[in-house]
Amino acid sequence: MVCFCFLVDQTRKVRQQRPAAGICSRCGGGASVADMKTATRFCYVPFYWKTWRAIVCTFCGSILKSYR
Ligand SMILES: [Zn+2]
Repeated sequence: MVCFCFLVDQTRKVRQQRPAAGICSRCGGGASVADMKTATRFCYVPFYWKTWRAIVCTFCGSILKSYR
């Protein structure tokens, strides 16, 4: 989650998640393929969003690989 200033912020949502091969390099937890949706908001009004796919850790939530 990134905050550029007080008015603009970003929210990240996981829309779908499936188990995937691989382990997390940070904690050793299991990896999963997630369809993510990132929304950028200005004064809490979404004005830009995109969907992308990433391999994330199911335990600590870190992004291991992203396919943008
Ligand atoms: Zn992890």
